[in-house]
Amino acid sequence: MRISDILRVKGENVVTVPPDMPVEVLVTELARHRIGAAVVSRDGTAVEGIVSERDVVRALAERGPAVLAEPVSTIQTTQVRTVTPDAQLEDVERLMTERRFRHVPVVVDGRLAGVVSIGDVVKNRIDELETERTTLADYITGERS
Ligand code: AMP
Repeated sequence: MRISDILRVKGENVVTVPPDMPVEVLVTELARHRIGAAVVSRDGTAVEGIVSERDVVRALAERGPAVLAEPVSTIQTTQVRTVTPDAQLEDVERLMTERRFRHVPVVVDGRLAGVVSIGDVVKNRIDELETERTTLADYITGERS
C-alpha cells in the first residue's frame, strides 16, 4: 500500500501553525483539532518545522511554564523527515519506528500534501489484517474458491 492510498481516504488537510505562534496557542490548537502535532509553516504549504505534544512536554519540563509565552519556533524540530505520496506504507512504518516519531508530513514539489500519523498506520494495518483473515476464512470454509 502507498501513502497516496491513505491520503485518498483521509484527505490532504493538515493543521499548520506559524513559527511565531505562542506555545500557549499551539496547545489550544492541538486540543481543538484533537491532534498530537502540527506542521510549522508561514504560508501553509512549505514545511519549516514540526512541533508535537512531546516538544511541549519536554520544554515545560526543562524550562517551566514560561515556555507557554515563547514562540513555537523555540521548541519545534526543524530537520523534518517527509515522504512523497508514492512512498510505501511499510517504509513509513519503519521510519517512524527507527526515528521514534509518530508523524510524517507528505510533500509534493515542496508543497505540503498531507500528514500520516501512527494512528493512520495502525488503522491501515488492522484493516489489511482483517481483509486477509476474512479471505482466508472464506477460503477454508469454501465460500470462495
Ligand atoms: P511525535 O512522536 O511525532 O510526537 O514526535 C516526537 C519528536 O519527533 C518531536 O520532537 C517532534 O518534533 C519530532 N518529529 C515528529 N515528526 C517528525 C518528523 N516527521 N521529522 C522529524 N522530526 C519529527
